[in-house]
Amino acid sequence: MPEEVMVDVKNLVKRYGTFTAVNGVVFQVEKGEIFGLLGPNGAGKTTTIEMLVGLRKPDEGTASLSGHDVRKEVNKVKEVIGVQLQSTSLFELLKVEEILHLYASFYPSHVDIDGLIEDMLLTEKRRDRIKGLSGGQKQRLAIALALIHDPAIVFLDEPTTGLDPQARRTLWDIVLRLKERGKTVLLSTHYMDEAHVLCDRIGIMDQGELIALDTPENLVKTLQSASTVEFYLDDPPEQEWFGKMDGVKEAAVKDTFVQLYTDDLQIALTSLIEASSVHGFEIRDLQTRQATLEDVFIHMTGRRLRES
Ligand code: ATP
Repeated sequence: MPEEVMVDVKNLVKRYGTFTAVNGVVFQVEKGEIFGLLGPNGAGKTTTIEMLVGLRKPDEGTASLSGHDVRKEVNKVKEVIGVQLQSTSLFELLKVEEILHLYASFYPSHVDIDGLIEDMLLTEKRRDRIKGLSGGQKQRLAIALALIHDPAIVFLDEPTTGLDPQARRTLWDIVLRLKERGKTVLLSTHYMDEAHVLCDRIGIMDQGELIALDTPENLVKTLQSASTVEFYLDDPPEQEWFGKMDGVKEAAVKDTFVQLYTDDLQIALTSLIEASSVHGFEIRDLQTRQATLEDVFIHMTGRRLRES
């Protein structure tokens, strides 16, 4: 039996004046999936989510959530979605449990608030004012508010941006538990590790377009390379031959930073060292590692996901 499609996006386009922020995006998310939109800042992830949750009107295309058209059945859509946006502004002077009761009062029915507070690891903070919460606690509260009416589809826009590593991992556990409970999750992120750990499938976005869509494992497999060799040179190389060296499948060069993709690390390293002595260039900060989603992005766009 085919899975139930909970999010069905067809050719969404959003323009701001002459600039196209989202350009013909197509994807589906099945019930119980965690689907990630992965891409650098400005790729169009937030705009896509905002069109789906009814905050922006698409210029072209359609989308339905749990079978309801996002433009024509706004009230039905609101019933089935929970939304945590990057800019969720909380009433800072309210206490955690006060804001949850307030939000609960907006809906005809709601989940058990004590259970929700516990699930979001906020029990110790339930009587604290929001303004005193840490970044991670505020994010967990924002997710709690998104879940108050027990929605089937949960949207999380860059839920861990700005959090420390421990707070990020805590949030990852919470997102994975949403899946265990049968929720469908659509999240955006520019962290490739987050996308890899959390998502069943990932849509990679760049400059308004969905440039790849698959499971994390398959996306990495498309590189057909087991390892990546990275190093810096003193000057930007003029040579095009990095990609032609023995053992190297593909090379990406950005200024003085070079990445080589290889199936055979030993042969690639040997040819690199030979090339450095023949052509007289010095290799700095050489590292080798397994291919990741970041490499997929570099391979497809020639740029890094996050400028470091
Ligand atoms: P971020 O991680 O920075 O939120 P994103 O992938 O979510 O990135 P969007 O916020 O969707 O990207 O922005 C996509 C593009 O549209 C960006 O170039 C942004 O500057 C532009 N943009 C967004 N909102 C507007 C607006 N109201 N008017 C004009 N341009 C906009």
